[in-house]
Amino acid sequence: MAKSNPLIQGRTRPAFHRLSPVNINGAPGQRLMIVLRTQGCEYAAKNDGGCTVCGFANHAAPGIGGQGILDQLAWALEELPLTGVDEIDLLTLGSFLNENEIAAPVRAELLGMIAGLGGVRRVSFESRSEYVTDAKLLQSRRILGERTVEFGIGLESADDHVRNRIIRKGLSRDAFERVVATLARTGLDLLVYLLIKPPHLDEARAIADAVASVEYVAAVAARHGVRARMALEPVFVAPNTYLERVFLRGDYRLVNLWSVVEVILRTHQMGNIFVGLSDEDLSRNRTTGSCPLCQERLVSEIERFNHTLDVDRLRELDCPCRATYLEDRESGRI
Ligand code: SF4
Ligand SMILES: [Zn+2]
Repeated sequence: MAKSNPLIQGRTRPAFHRLSPVNINGAPGQRLMIVLRTQGCEYAAKNDGGCTVCGFANHAAPGIGGQGILDQLAWALEELPLTGVDEIDLLTLGSFLNENEIAAPVRAELLGMIAGLGGVRRVSFESRSEYVTDAKLLQSRRILGERTVEFGIGLESADDHVRNRIIRKGLSRDAFERVVATLARTGLDLLVYLLIKPPHLDEARAIADAVASVEYVAAVAARHGVRARMALEPVFVAPNTYLERVFLRGDYRLVNLWSVVEVILRTHQMGNIFVGLSDEDLSRNRTTGSCPLCQERLVSEIERFNHTLDVDRLRELDCPCRATYLEDRESGRI
């Protein structure tokens, strides 16, 4: 992922951006993810830091105005290679639909800038549930025209204890399902972020949790007739988070890439899944991994899956470290 550079020639840059392969409604494409630097997440500010794994506050720019936010997208659209980009994920350090974080006119202008891009077939943005209204979603539909518009929400886990006690998401399943009903009424697609291995879950439980979460989201989306995509996010350890404290005292082990592969193999038939490999520029010892022999191959095969949705090559992967991983997982050592 590209570096986080606050100020270049007087213009604020996005907190992060990343170009990666994706599959759009059956066809391979390229996704540009941009995380706009905002004043930060209001939920985190009002709830003792917010979610226990989220390090977005590290990148916030308190006091940044609407122009500062617009400048970041203008910079991205001018400076990044957009040829071949089919999808833009326009993220923020909090909720795109919270008008205390992004004022309504700025939101409309950001969407209008994306609407001016010819080749983009899918656009997504993300928000906590409490800011979602029919009017805001209909407005985004209107501005973005014929493109697929996807609404992203961090559910993280379908399990209430994992989501609200461990991750401290502050999101009920009822509220999540109300959002899905709103999408059905307004004609947007659903993008749900799910974590692989939040704190306090061992490897086996983490796999089971991710699989059950995909199953739940697929069922809710089907019940409402909404097209859904699940972004599975292997947890990484961001600075200044509860997770970092647990990690530094030796009580958290990063998810093994073999678990990520297993989650893909066990869920790909349930719906449209995607593995987010964002890492906020963290060093390798804070992000998912396997062993030096297979690490790069597994990452590139996972990215290939994101592009093609084909699991055949993932099934064939092997490495000497895999047997040890399976033994450790079986015994609960990891
Ligand atoms: S994960 Fe989202 S809701 Fe939670 S603290 Fe971070 S930005 Fe806020
Ligand atoms: Zn290996």
